[in-house]
Amino acid sequence: MPDLRNPEDLRRKQLPRPLDYTYRPQLECRLIYYTDIMDQPEFSARLRVNTTAPGFLSKHEERAKKIGGFVDSNPYILVHSVRGWAEGIDPEKDPTVMAWWNDSRLPSQPCLSHPDVIDAVRRNVKAAAEKASPDSVFRVVQEDAPRCECDRCRAVWAEHGDAASAVVIRLVNQLARDVGEMGRPDIKIGTLAYAWSAGPPEDLPVEPNVRIQFATYHGCLQHGYGTPDCPTNVKMYRDILTWKGLRDDLIFWHYTPNFADYLQPPMNFESIGPQLRALHDAGMKGIFLQGPGSGINLPFADMMIYVAAHLLWNPDLEPMRLVNEFVDLHYGSAAPQIHEFLALVSRTIRDNPGHSNCNGHLREWGLSREVGLEGIEIFKRALASAETPEARARVEKASVGAYRLALGEYFKNEKPVPDEKREAIRNLARDLFRMTDTHNVAEYFEGRRMEVAKNNMRQALGMAEDEAF
Ligand SMILES: [Zn+2]
Ligand SMILES: [Zn+2]
Repeated sequence: MPDLRNPEDLRRKQLPRPLDYTYRPQLECRLIYYTDIMDQPEFSARLRVNTTAPGFLSKHEERAKKIGGFVDSNPYILVHSVRGWAEGIDPEKDPTVMAWWNDSRLPSQPCLSHPDVIDAVRRNVKAAAEKASPDSVFRVVQEDAPRCECDRCRAVWAEHGDAASAVVIRLVNQLARDVGEMGRPDIKIGTLAYAWSAGPPEDLPVEPNVRIQFATYHGCLQHGYGTPDCPTNVKMYRDILTWKGLRDDLIFWHYTPNFADYLQPPMNFESIGPQLRALHDAGMKGIFLQGPGSGINLPFADMMIYVAAHLLWNPDLEPMRLVNEFVDLHYGSAAPQIHEFLALVSRTIRDNPGHSNCNGHLREWGLSREVGLEGIEIFKRALASAETPEARARVEKASVGAYRLALGEYFKNEKPVPDEKREAIRNLARDLFRMTDTHNVAEYFEGRRMEVAKNNMRQALGMAEDEAF
């Protein structure tokens, strides 16, 4: 065995392959929506993910460009937008331009089969196309609200296998033909297959300059895709493959955390590998992987970023090897206990018969107070094993997930704490909030700050406003 620190040995050593190695990943865009990493363009580049997002992170655009990590996110995040494109419709004059749902008209969602809505969108898109730079992607996406269920929309679904997406695809197809006829076939019309439009339409080819972004929102987060033990994901993956038959350059909007409970331990650290593998196999060209956004410093967010970033670059990597590698490198001498805790979470989820998406209740994952209390004991041993202040801080930050579980339904004041448990629950809450303060954990639920969680907990405990835990 040559000693490669010796340059003479290095010269003699036969290298296994030429050094001018080129690798072109399948994904043109890999956006991971965690501020923890998007705020660090240099580290993002090391993990080979892109470093831009709308709004607050655009401040890094110049820095990220210099290191090659910048990508214009607009073509890869097809956000809700059709109400803006329908500018000019007048719901006061004709209420039927808005979606009919649940016996009333929705204020935000237009009826996408209404001739006036279609005319307005076509007019505005054509006007924008006149001024658009080459290869623009126009985002024409249903609003994040229910579908229109008027008779005319229903008739369109009925023509295409009862798929509500048919009203969306008919509209974007028309727009794609319009810009083509203007001599601008370079412009793409991008839309989401999401929620009520996730099911693909039958007998409705999609124009070549339409881009489809499939959102896995209703997929089950705890299982892979295409495996028979998860009927939700079997059906969703069948839909994905049908979309692939309609447009072969799909991009995806995928989800990592539970938006209803940011502090819980990740329930998908094993399933994310098979899920991303399946999306790669479906021809994925880009992804917006929606994490907690501004909800920084969540327990194990660092591990999820590490695993996801590697798999987006190379889906052939073994996901659990990445998990184990992260734990060993990050927690050092405390790694055995962290492995033990993750095995507890994994076992719990595997033994749980349910399925849930990225907005689930803890009980849907089988994550009970008892699992939390068992986890806390593991973390106490992990803290004792950690050899450096840095390792202790990392372990403590990860332990927030166990404390969250141990507070169960009291944490969000789903029910009041009974008298006999008050002292124990208050002690757990005090420990949890001390740690979330120390580690600058920003949110406990999508868009809701930790202060709100403290107030919920005070109410469950019958404490006064602003009373210290
Ligand atoms: Zn309608
Ligand atoms: Zn499932």
